[in-house]
Amino acid sequence: MDYSPYLHPEIETMPRQDLEALQMERLKKTLGLCMNNAFYQRRFNELGITPDDIRTLDDVRRLPFTTKEDLRENYPFGLACVPLRQCTRLHSSSGTTGNPTVVLHTERDLHEWAEAVARCLWMVGSRPDDVFQNSAGYGMFTAGLGFQYGAERVGMLTVPAAAGNTTRQIKFIRDFGTTVLHAIPSYASRIYEVMKAEGVDPRRDTSLRVLCIGAEPHSEEQRQRIEQNLGVRAYNSYGISEMMGPGVAFECPEQDGLHIWEDYFIVEIIDPVTLEPVPDGEMGELVLTTINREAMPLLRYRTRDLTRILPGTCPCGRTHRRIARLQGRSDDMIILKGVNIFPIQIEKILLKFQELSTDYLITLDTTDAGDTMTIDVELGQLFTDDYRDLQRLERTVTRLLKDEILITPKVRFVQKGALAVSDEKKAVRVKDKRKLF
Ligand SMILES: [Zn+2]
Repeated sequence: MDYSPYLHPEIETMPRQDLEALQMERLKKTLGLCMNNAFYQRRFNELGITPDDIRTLDDVRRLPFTTKEDLRENYPFGLACVPLRQCTRLHSSSGTTGNPTVVLHTERDLHEWAEAVARCLWMVGSRPDDVFQNSAGYGMFTAGLGFQYGAERVGMLTVPAAAGNTTRQIKFIRDFGTTVLHAIPSYASRIYEVMKAEGVDPRRDTSLRVLCIGAEPHSEEQRQRIEQNLGVRAYNSYGISEMMGPGVAFECPEQDGLHIWEDYFIVEIIDPVTLEPVPDGEMGELVLTTINREAMPLLRYRTRDLTRILPGTCPCGRTHRRIARLQGRSDDMIILKGVNIFPIQIEKILLKFQELSTDYLITLDTTDAGDTMTIDVELGQLFTDDYRDLQRLERTVTRLLKDEILITPKVRFVQKGALAVSDEKKAVRVKDKRKLF
């Protein structure tokens, strides 16, 4: 059966002018909802503005920012803009320090969330004939239920496998004929490793075709490695639980940036220090205003995620702007000798080498010579243990790293498995042992 490449062509390819008019209309409605809430009333009073002062999309900059700390301080229901009896679900962060964050949803919010995820899944080629398997954790983690309802909305047969038990995941992939899989990137690599150990050839023994990867920032090189290993097309997914979860932005078949759904969000990129907007194309912090949520709209929410707007239009025909793959979080930034460095820059270089595995650890330390960076990286299975080859490799890797991050790290190769990370945890990439004065 022939399907349209768009799930909702009238929205996805809407002329910019109409899209911006729709944004304005939805923003007004959102500001009206915010006025039901004491927190927002107070913020508006402090700034001396009312919703009537917001007349154009540029006026968004007059609105107050919101942050994760605001959610924590107003835990659990202080940011609700509708009565609780109108809410039908909440999601909460794990809250390892202090109060967790709580995000409330009405029935309509849940419907719109599923629509957004369905639009993303359709965009990467999922169709009702597909079998979708979700290896994300269910429960409070939004990638579980978020992808579940989106995949059901597409009409796929869905397999809510949930996280962990890789051997069972592989059995499901084979027995149920899974064609579309959602996994975090480190777990996709793990699935491949276990397949290899069990003698399963993903191309020969599975029907896998599409992989949706998100949750952890990852590099283009890591995507390509996943694609080659599993014989799939892998698409980058961006979600944030404060906005709802997955479905905020997603790659299209062009695999060149993630379309961010502008009928759901007003997008800004700001300088995280001055809080001023940066020009299109320049890196900064992603700030989102929800314009299609009722229970808990968030104005100018500071995501802490670093990205940039990709200038120009996308050949796929969608008019919603694209953001570049996420470059880490403003909180993950390493400042060493006055240089800003993101772990993903280092990963990008390491992944250029087939001889190296994807596991690495960056250690920052203080020595007599000042602050230093040591990068331990596991050798892959391909490599011989010829000492001269290792030395040559070390020199090449160090040189490329210096070109990328502008300081010279010490590179050490370690045996495969030496830095092993567990199945379900995100890998620890940075250890900071510096003495701070
Ligand atoms: Zn596109």
